[in-house]
Amino acid sequence: MFTELNNFNRPTPIQQLNKNWLGNRVFIKREDLLPFSFGGNKARKAAGFFAEIDRGNYDVIMTYGSSSSNHARVVANCAAARGLHCVVVSPIDDKETNTFNRRILEVLGAEIIQCPLDKVSETIALRMEELRMGNQNPYFIQGGGHGLHGTQSYVEAYEEIVSYESQTNLHFDYIFLASGTGTTQAGLIAGQIKHQDQRQIIGISIARTQQRGTHVIEESLIEYFEDEQLNPIGMGLVHFNADYILEGYGSCNAQICEVIDAMLREEGVALDPTYTGKAFWGMRQYLQQHSIEGKNVLFMHTGGTPIFYDYMKER
Ligand SMILES: *Cc1c(COP(=O)(O)O)cnc(C)c1O
Repeated sequence: MFTELNNFNRPTPIQQLNKNWLGNRVFIKREDLLPFSFGGNKARKAAGFFAEIDRGNYDVIMTYGSSSSNHARVVANCAAARGLHCVVVSPIDDKETNTFNRRILEVLGAEIIQCPLDKVSETIALRMEELRMGNQNPYFIQGGGHGLHGTQSYVEAYEEIVSYESQTNLHFDYIFLASGTGTTQAGLIAGQIKHQDQRQIIGISIARTQQRGTHVIEESLIEYFEDEQLNPIGMGLVHFNADYILEGYGSCNAQICEVIDAMLREEGVALDPTYTGKAFWGMRQYLQQHSIEGKNVLFMHTGGTPIFYDYMKER
């Protein structure tokens, strides 16, 4: 029995920040405090996938992630804790590969296969085939923990938000988060649709264009509602904002660095330049540009603590 992920101390805390922003009260949901492998949204998603893995007869876990991937770290750790072999296919790019997430993968004994970005699916298929030929039974998890279990896990997080609101008599007008594969956002929106809640859930893209990001979230919603046998109404609720991606995945500017430093100094909360720092900065820009004032705003702290340390090392 592996309980490290199933006995999470959920719900994760929601805390109000000391500082208001344009008269908006800002709260953070601390997904980074999920108590396994530095937490984060990838830990919550992995719990869903591993619940299925634990019911099955799998001996290898296969996934995909770059050297800064929080997902690869969490999945490799879940596998290691079960004594399962883990294979991570990783694209060769010009980014720094000596990251803390990569070093943790090595400590966890994951098999890392590097290949050019355009050879990723081919490489995964080949290794899967090889494993099967060797009489093994691999389980594949998409990059970022994308997929139905990932979506479902964020419907649960949405339920936690709703109970917090009813306990505290508070209503969040906006929920902001860093959006990558969009699975986290899809789960939250599915929760919103189920509750028919009036609010805006705004994903700040960390890489994808608005069109692609929106499309993938819509697909995740369709998949989820098909599975639940419900009608997927409310596609207009997908707000995927690509105004703050800068030069793309992992790119950062001086303002983001200032936001990260200020959050640490004033709130004691660690953000990173690739995901949460970029999204927090994007959220502040968005509030200003849309003259949003006097609202209750919830920011999802989706984790990524090892990347915060990468940033500290470079700074
Ligand atoms: C992966 C990740 C995201 C993006 O989550 P998606 O569900 O892929 O959109 C946001 N923040 C952090 C810290 C992440 O690791």
